[in-house]
Amino acid sequence: MIVVKVGGSAGIDYDAVCADLARRWKAGEKLILVHGGSGETNRVAEALGHPPRFVTSPSGYTSRFTDRQTLEIFEMVYCGKMNKGIVERLQRLGVNAVGLSGLDGRIFEGRHKDSVRIVENGKTKVLRGDHTGTVEKVNTGLIDLLLGAGYLPVLTPPASSYEGVAINVDGDRAAAALAVALNADALLLLSNVPGLLRAYPDESSLIREIPATDVEAYLEFAQDRMKKKVLGAAEAVQGGVKRVIFGDARAGEPISAALAGAGTVVS
Ligand code: ADP
Repeated sequence: MIVVKVGGSAGIDYDAVCADLARRWKAGEKLILVHGGSGETNRVAEALGHPPRFVTSPSGYTSRFTDRQTLEIFEMVYCGKMNKGIVERLQRLGVNAVGLSGLDGRIFEGRHKDSVRIVENGKTKVLRGDHTGTVEKVNTGLIDLLLGAGYLPVLTPPASSYEGVAINVDGDRAAAALAVALNADALLLLSNVPGLLRAYPDESSLIREIPATDVEAYLEFAQDRMKKKVLGAAEAVQGGVKRVIFGDARAGEPISAALAGAGTVVS
């Protein structure tokens, strides 16, 4: 089993990802796709007059502050436009894909964090009314049913809280939890960069290999949201996933290239 996560940043070629996925699926490989949608969510939120608000935690992690209205816009884009756009591409390529959020069948479950500590202008503050959380539990029942019946699952945040409230969760870490739950052979984290760069944005500074025992040491090279990918990779390999690869989804055959070792390989 291979879990492929494709991000939501500008420049990602979803046609290329879906074509590669379809070829491999038809050749008999078991795959699951998890996707993001942050870039499009920002655009739609601006257009709807509720611009995104990104906050930084005291430990330096950036996240989207998700009030109820933001959550609804997030769902429109992630579960609607992005998810159905990917499912449509795969259907056109002859793959019977089924698109679901983490709420459906409680595939992704975790604790709802209603308040978030942030640093703004050098001061620490607490913001309430946040609909975020982290995936702590993956319920694979529905996924097993789908795979067993020959459907390719296409999954996206949000997740469900233990109380059944929708929560915005990081897609990379959700994909990592899924890869652990399914005992996947590999987790691919595909985005609009060649991999983890030692000196971002210099693409010639690609880090080719990271030993599984030392992933956290590489957090120092990651800025902003790249930190979540490194964290997800650490969680996946610690949970028994053999290989995590940060790969490029901008062109070519992104899944095959990553599996062939292009990008940053954590093993
Ligand atoms: P996605 O939504 O595609 O999953 P993110 O925007 O969450 O991707 O994270 C990828 C982004 O992280 C890149 O587009 C890049 O701007 C940023 N980044 C920060 N530090 C690094 C780094 N050291 N190497 C590569 N990308 C980095």
